[in-house]
Amino acid sequence: MKPQRLVNGFKWLNIVFLGFAAICSSLYWSFQYPNYRDGRKYLENNVQRIVENQEQKLHIKHAGMPKVSYTLFFPSILDFRPQALTYDAEYDWKTNTLYFNPLRIRTPQETLTNKVARTMMGIDEDVNIDCVVEHEFGHVYADFTSERLRTENIWPGNIKRFTDNIAYNIASEGMAENSVVSCDNDERHKGFGKLPNLNPSLFDDRPNPYSIGYHLVQPLVKEFGLQRIVEYIVQHPLQREDLANLTAYQAQAKRVLNGLIQSR
Ligand SMILES: [Zn+2]
Repeated sequence: MKPQRLVNGFKWLNIVFLGFAAICSSLYWSFQYPNYRDGRKYLENNVQRIVENQEQKLHIKHAGMPKVSYTLFFPSILDFRPQALTYDAEYDWKTNTLYFNPLRIRTPQETLTNKVARTMMGIDEDVNIDCVVEHEFGHVYADFTSERLRTENIWPGNIKRFTDNIAYNIASEGMAENSVVSCDNDERHKGFGKLPNLNPSLFDDRPNPYSIGYHLVQPLVKEFGLQRIVEYIVQHPLQREDLANLTAYQAQAKRVLNGLIQSR
């Protein structure tokens, strides 16, 4: 093929691809829009109730409410992350804003449009929106607790190394998953044996932070309650060195909280 023809070929391929993408997204949005509209209304009417129920069940008190946005969370065009499309919601601790993903929002009731939209997105699990709210408010709770207790005034603080990010994620998602009260958490994280020992030097070692975090934090919450555990974790963040022995991190937390040793 001559170079000019090759260029033209690519051009057409591009046009076909973009056209196809545009058709797929409008088709998707036509099914998702009713879920977005009803889901948003549901959240506007129910977030307060969901959060109060969470406070009561977990014996905690939220120190403040985040701003709520029904848009995708992209601080700028340069921050575009394709995976953000797959999140139900995200909490931005820098601006204290909770973002509900309009592409995934829905009411708790199963509807036809709901089902079609989920199938188109390849989501097979039936996610309870109350539990999404509770999870995100777990992040909010950790953030406010951190602001209250840490001099840096932020959670997670400065994460410079990728592996520290894994450690942060595990602790952070662990606290959030343990803040869920309307879903059966053990069921959601079953099929997961004892805590693994992760290799902190492996960059491609990407463990599921939700399940590992859940099992890391759950026995501690059971023994001491969420408030004390969140206070402990934000003051003793999981470090990458801890990844190699998560059980030791748990044991240390227990010793400190039982007053057997001084906090490090
Ligand atoms: Zn989370």
